[in-house]
Amino acid sequence: MENGRTVPETLRWAGEYLSLHKVPDPSIEAEFLLAHAFGCQKKDLLIHPERVLTPGEVEQFKGFVERRGRREPLQYILGEVEFRGLSFKVNRKVLIPRPETELLVEEAINSIKGREGSGEGKDITILDLCTGSGCIAISIAKELPYCRVYAVDISERAIEVARENAERYGVGERVIFLPGDLFEAIEPLGLDGEIDLIISNPPYVSKKEMEGLQPEIKAYEPLSALYGGEDGLDFYRRIVDEAPFYLSDGGLLIMEIGCSQAERVKDLLENEGLFSQIEVKKDLSGIDRIIKAAYYSKEI
Ligand code: GLN
Repeated sequence: MENGRTVPETLRWAGEYLSLHKVPDPSIEAEFLLAHAFGCQKKDLLIHPERVLTPGEVEQFKGFVERRGRREPLQYILGEVEFRGLSFKVNRKVLIPRPETELLVEEAINSIKGREGSGEGKDITILDLCTGSGCIAISIAKELPYCRVYAVDISERAIEVARENAERYGVGERVIFLPGDLFEAIEPLGLDGEIDLIISNPPYVSKKEMEGLQPEIKAYEPLSALYGGEDGLDFYRRIVDEAPFYLSDGGLLIMEIGCSQAERVKDLLENEGLFSQIEVKKDLSGIDRIIKAAYYSKEI
């Protein structure tokens, strides 16, 4: 790309470059990247269409476009993603929060709000397993000031990013980040029977599905946040097996699931024998996406 181009000319060049590299929605992505290079909003790009890019802006923008052309996810280039109206920092240390996961958070918030006596002085204890960027834990803590959230991830690098996100929203004191392998991280805290809600978007992609992932996901997102073992269900087995030790009577387990996993995860919950009121909810594309169950210490 030569110097001296205006905004529309620059966008046209970038759109064609991205299209050539098979990036979906090339024109829109070009706008996001140019706005990022200018440090402005996408909607403000064409306020001065005759504006000519400075050599510094050209350099930076070209760098962004080339990265996107190599199929690095747009969100990693922007360094931010919006999730339920909040902006979260993201980079290659964390999985990019997906829109479907917003429904998981919604379900958890509504379930807690619906509980008898919630918000009346009784603190609610929540455990978020595989927290990644922290988007689930932080969104809940921000919306429900009487909640304390323990947020676990096996990746210390992910926890660094999640901590920054929690500070950004002023919930650093109520979201306690713990590095570790699922429940192992909270074992020393003596929370047996004390947790009101366990929430998780665990890695759930099966071995076979891993092969078919888009290049953006396969080459850039952390594998350990995606791969759920041969059949994708490894984490559900472990979570369903151990959750009863930690849940309070009537406590809830809410998890995101991959498409076609609902029946098998439901079976795991049923076979455990201590979960009831098992419900599966669909996402906006009509795909089974959330599974929810209540724990009772005696089978009912
Ligand atoms: N939903 C993610 C995907 O699209 C998978 C996330 C996960 O494994 N929890 O690949």
